[in-house]
Amino acid sequence: MSDTEKKPASNFIRHIIDEDISNNKNDGKVVTRFPPEPNGYLHIGHAKSICLNFGLAEDYHGDCNLRFDDTNPEKEDMEYIDSIKEDVSWLGYKWVGEPKYASAYFDQLYHYAIELIKSGKAYVCSLSADEAREYRGSLTKPGKDSPYRDQTMEENLDLFARMKQGEFDEGAKVLRARIDMAAPNINMRDPIIYRIRKIEHHQTGNEWCIYPMYDYTHCLSDAIEGITHSLCTLEFEDHRPLYDWVLDQLQTPCHPQQIEFARLNLNYTITSKRKLKQLVDENHVLGWDDPRMPTISGLRRRGYTPASIRDFSERIGVTKVDGVVDMGTLEFCIREDLEHSAPRAMCVIKPLKVTIESWADEHVEDLSALRHPKDDSMGRRILKMTRVIYIDRSDFEEVPPPKYKRLTVDKEVRLRNSYVIKCNEMIKNEQGEVIELRCTHDADTLGKRPEGRKVKGVVHWVSEQYSVPAEVRIYDRLFSEENPDSAARNHEDEDSHFLDFLNPDSITVMNDARAEISLADTKAGDSFQFEREGYFTADPDTTNDKLVFNRTVSLRDSWAKAGKLSTGKE
Ligand code: ATP
Ligand code: MG
Repeated sequence: MSDTEKKPASNFIRHIIDEDISNNKNDGKVVTRFPPEPNGYLHIGHAKSICLNFGLAEDYHGDCNLRFDDTNPEKEDMEYIDSIKEDVSWLGYKWVGEPKYASAYFDQLYHYAIELIKSGKAYVCSLSADEAREYRGSLTKPGKDSPYRDQTMEENLDLFARMKQGEFDEGAKVLRARIDMAAPNINMRDPIIYRIRKIEHHQTGNEWCIYPMYDYTHCLSDAIEGITHSLCTLEFEDHRPLYDWVLDQLQTPCHPQQIEFARLNLNYTITSKRKLKQLVDENHVLGWDDPRMPTISGLRRRGYTPASIRDFSERIGVTKVDGVVDMGTLEFCIREDLEHSAPRAMCVIKPLKVTIESWADEHVEDLSALRHPKDDSMGRRILKMTRVIYIDRSDFEEVPPPKYKRLTVDKEVRLRNSYVIKCNEMIKNEQGEVIELRCTHDADTLGKRPEGRKVKGVVHWVSEQYSVPAEVRIYDRLFSEENPDSAARNHEDEDSHFLDFLNPDSITVMNDARAEISLADTKAGDSFQFEREGYFTADPDTTNDKLVFNRTVSLRDSWAKAGKLSTGKE
């Protein structure tokens, strides 16, 4: 950590590490890992885990590994591996050496399993899945010993070797740890450590047809890599006895310490890869990187910066208590970041034509404006003032409410960074809709107040001739329910009913927007504050002919106050 950076807030994990260092445990070293299963794209919950693991390694001058926990070839894919590497790097973290794969340890894990069999700590069980469930017991009922539990070591070694050779069908046999079928913790009732799966693996091809289970693989992978502190979410607390049991039975290079912390839950969205995959597979969203998704790739496309996500992780902190974080907190973090870093620009999202009759057709006047009101180093931009301009439809009212400050017939308004204009006449089409305003300008108002009167309203505008067409995509919450998962619990099909709470107005596309000419060279990923509108980031769909912007976040958190879903403009 450099001296200029803020010192991170302390938490219970830092206390444990500080204590370990002062006792010279692990020779004072800190080695962590981020261990995703490559079965989907990473989401904001993973970002918390990434910032925690890589952040601790940075702060304590230790190492952090990226390890793919790839023991379930059925659901895993190279696409996910690539996206995970990209996301971790984008967040600004570096793993040590090459990415690691649990599958690279399959040989070692196999030999450890043989050690367990030899010491009478594992056996091959031939109960069917149904029988095994029956034998396992329940929370209130102890389990029963499997009839295969007392096979001889020679029988077990032989059967396990034949499992590996592919002699048995899937499900016909498993290798189980021999612990205690009466243990109050069900995870300790002779858990499965190997199962048969005749599926090609994305890393090991067809070399294996037996695959180690997560609990067995994870602790051993940690030990093989010399991890000191193995951080995981609270649901693994009940698995810790098994984590320790496996390591206690075997001669491993070290015995890492598992520490559990609360997972991140965010309201109005979901953080389960399986459900996010369902949204993608069933086309409820346009892909993993849809800007409405809570995935890291979705947030990136939406315009979130790595700094904003790291800031968010720091703010929410690390605790032992599960809770739900308000989406507003995440939005606050990107707003804070873009307030400083995003240049200002004008973009009219719903254009209304304005003709300034006091100027000739060929009138073109260069006006200069700061790119950032508080940061001169961003320089200035040129705005072109012409006879025909656009303002936003919502900045004109035919019948204005009391105290209305924007434009209406016979009233004045200031064009931002430009002159005061007065509306003399509105033109309507056959349907009675206002399609054009006829105005005149006051030449004595550039950079100064008008004589003898106050003009309070300021509206943004673009020149018709000197502007570029844009599509603007406005996003709202993906779900209309604060907790789409728990709301779904009342339904029969608990698993899919979170879909009932999808917000039908989570995207609004505005096709006719026009952006000021200085944005003509905008590249995907460039962010701006569109004055009076919000923060926007150019989408990869941007072409030479059309800019496409995603609204990253509104200017203010009007959502929390309104207490309801808003669409379009705030
Ligand atoms: P999901 O339920 O979304 O599939 P997972 O825990 O199965 O998540 P993994 O790929 O196994 O996904 O997770 C990699 C790491 O990220 C794990 O250490 C896990 O504990 C952590 N992680 C996953 N979800 C969250 C979350 N919501 N908050 C904090 N950490 C998380
Ligand atoms: Mg998992």
